[in-house]
Amino acid sequence: MSNGRELLRLNKMPHIWCPGCGNGIITSQVLRAIQELEWDQDKTVIVSGIGCSSRAPGYLDFSTLHTTHGRALAFATGLKYANPELKVIVLTGDGDSAAIGGNHLIHACRRNIDITTIVFNNSIYGMTSGQYSPLTPTGSLATTAPYGNIDRTFDLSQLAVAAGATYVARTTTYHTNQLRDFIKKGMQNKGFSVIEAVTHCPTYFGRRNRMGGAVEMLNWQKDHAVPIRAAERLSEEELADKFIIGEFHNKPEPEYCERYAQLIANTKGQE
Ligand code: SF4
Repeated sequence: MSNGRELLRLNKMPHIWCPGCGNGIITSQVLRAIQELEWDQDKTVIVSGIGCSSRAPGYLDFSTLHTTHGRALAFATGLKYANPELKVIVLTGDGDSAAIGGNHLIHACRRNIDITTIVFNNSIYGMTSGQYSPLTPTGSLATTAPYGNIDRTFDLSQLAVAAGATYVARTTTYHTNQLRDFIKKGMQNKGFSVIEAVTHCPTYFGRRNRMGGAVEMLNWQKDHAVPIRAAERLSEEELADKFIIGEFHNKPEPEYCERYAQLIANTKGQE
């Protein structure tokens, strides 16, 4: 297998991400997943919204769309609908997907359209200097929550399951092999897939919450992520400062574009 340089727009380097940012880890696992599944570079489209993570497609040598804030899934839905032969991946952040784009997310889940969405969950709005997002843990500090965030936190993966996504999994930038495995499974699912990648933003979330640099934040992920099976044996108190990783849902259901094609076939000649 090649080292993947042909999948990058090297003329767009250097990238804008801070030293130690987790975005590169997730992006590299997306590229390795594409390589391992041998997806056609010319038939793969990568779509993003706005935010640090949404800058990723600009560095990737595919057909790419860098769209407006929260609207990546709306653009991706149109693309897939117009040309179901395309493979469509959405790269989005926690603010982009769970706040301004939250409605698009739940309806994409509900439709079960064949798109793989990878949410870079760094718990903060990094690009705009550290405001709290719907995924900032309750009690954490942010520029807009200098005494601690009092909002309750969304569990984005559970939201996606409840809204109808047919493949949903969560892991971290520490668990890179598992991350690639989940991304591949999401890409292979003929339906809407959500992979929540808990990542580290040393510049805004880490610094403000005194978590140290990238290495300390990766170690924090290792110490606080609990696999589903292990979590079943722990009490609520033991899980209080932890989060659960693993596959939450993997159940194929009829895919939206196929259902639409079937509808057209069924109604032909009836007008
Ligand atoms: Fe990464 Fe945070 Fe820097 Fe954005 S602000 S590039 S998320 S470290």
